[in-house]
Amino acid sequence: MAQQNFDVVIAGGAAIGSSAAYFLSADAGFKGRIAVVELDPGYQFSATALSAASIRHQFSNAENIRMSLFGTQFLREFATRMAVDGSAPDPAFHEGGYLFLATDQGLATLQQNQVLQSSLGADIALLSGAQLRARFPWLKVDDLAAGALGLSGEGWLDAYAMMQGMRRKAIAQGVQYIKARVTALRESAGRVVEVVLDDGRALACGAVINAAGTGAAALSAPLGIELPVRARKRSVFYVQCPEALPGCPMVIDPSGAYFRPEGQGFIMGIAPPPDQDPDATDFEVQHALFDEILWPVLAARVPAFEALRCQRSWAGHYDMNLFDQNLIIGLHPSVGNLYFANGLSGHGMQQAPAIGRALSELITTGRYQTLDLSRLGWQRILADQPVFEVNVV
Ligand SMILES: Cc1cc2nc3c(=O)[nH]c(=O)nc-3n(C[C@H](O)[C@H](O)[C@H](O)COP(=O)(O)OP(=O)(O)OC[C@H]3O[C@@H](n4cnc5c(N)ncnc54)[C@H](O)[C@@H]3O)c2cc1C
Repeated sequence: MAQQNFDVVIAGGAAIGSSAAYFLSADAGFKGRIAVVELDPGYQFSATALSAASIRHQFSNAENIRMSLFGTQFLREFATRMAVDGSAPDPAFHEGGYLFLATDQGLATLQQNQVLQSSLGADIALLSGAQLRARFPWLKVDDLAAGALGLSGEGWLDAYAMMQGMRRKAIAQGVQYIKARVTALRESAGRVVEVVLDDGRALACGAVINAAGTGAAALSAPLGIELPVRARKRSVFYVQCPEALPGCPMVIDPSGAYFRPEGQGFIMGIAPPPDQDPDATDFEVQHALFDEILWPVLAARVPAFEALRCQRSWAGHYDMNLFDQNLIIGLHPSVGNLYFANGLSGHGMQQAPAIGRALSELITTGRYQTLDLSRLGWQRILADQPVFEVNVV
């Protein structure tokens, strides 16, 4: 069997894998060889390529807010950071804002979150029902107590272009991308010593990053590590509406339904009810969800949506952390050189830059330098102390 040596092997080369590859190869403190093993260079079924590609600072937990604030900074600096031979892909970042809506029931949480978000530097304004009506006359606000609107820094982008920019830059910095499936992580004396590929190769490694998204749990299970991450299907619908909705941000309805502008129309979606949300195995769109739940809910919120037409749709898989819907990052205590960055539960594209930077710091210096993510490590899982995120969309 052919063997090659790398200091770091990254399993999975989409947003998280490519971000880790970019930051590590850009780090002056890291001199090693990096390989990214990606089974599908077309990224057809990756969550990154199928995502709703939006970024918000409106989380309930400080680490998530800070990671996404860095995501915004990264996007604003994208053209300079990602330039190769003087050019970079355009991530088409549009700072259109998020609008989280709350009824009386959700008001206290909305207010509490806004205080935390603002204290960390997010530009979020609380709007009363009357202010919402004045600013968004196309929105029904009768049942609402307030809304929290991102005035800058939040919005949407081309997630595929962002990922390709990081991948391209990583390659320019010497990272080797390998088209193959990782079939096994071979362990000896509490360390992964080889990454086994389906083309017969075995890559000797100093460290491994598991960035395999919904494939991550299967990779670590044979090592006796139970990653509480499962695939959950989420469908996205592209619709056209005969009326314009001036100033429309990404709107999060109290029901959990969302919509935002996309091209000449809008994209929208909602999570299925929890009892109808099994492990996802296919990519069939949940049309009944649109007809029976999503459309009625959103037509009640935006009367112009009564006349919308669904023109296309797709489904992707969230890598859902069933334990507390948050990132699991860092080393597992039982394997000394296996790093994880999984369970992003629907907000990983925007946090990929912060996660790649964090992994690079951990590998290069043994600790977080810029943003302490230790609360999101394995310890909380093993100690059964969840760090919940309230704002999971
Ligand atoms: C419908 C939908 C909407 C979303 N909307 C948003 C949003 O608006 N904002 C946001 O921030 N996030 C959003 N997300 C979540 C976000 O897309 C993900 O959290 C993020 O893309 C995860 O990146 P990743 O690199 O970990 O995983 P992925 O993008 O899934 O990549 C994992 C990669 O690993 C590869 N792989 C898997 N197993 C192996 C193996 N054994 N060997 C080699 N390669 C392997 C796969 O081919 C894949 O390319 C959404 C997700 C979905 C599905």
